[in-house]
Amino acid sequence: MSTLDETPGASGTQAPAKGVRVKTHPALCNGMGNCHRFAPDVYHLDEDGYIGLHLLDVPPELADQARLGAKVCPEGAITIIEY
Ligand code: SF4
Repeated sequence: MSTLDETPGASGTQAPAKGVRVKTHPALCNGMGNCHRFAPDVYHLDEDGYIGLHLLDVPPELADQARLGAKVCPEGAITIIEY
């Protein structure tokens, strides 16, 4: 007989991490490079230093980095869409 309350699902109450979708607005980008500096695994810039991608699905392990990159963009050129 067990004395522990082992209710299934009682531990680990946090929801599993989710990825995010990134939408960028290249016409707003001024090439400051903050996004790449703070989130180099998510945001890649072209040879002139401007954001090139338009839409990207980011996996859970890079979601926080994606959010940070969007936050530090001075032009609001990055939108994070939470799933
Ligand atoms: S931080 Fe914003 S303005 Fe700067 S390169 Fe990235 S998208 Fe462009």
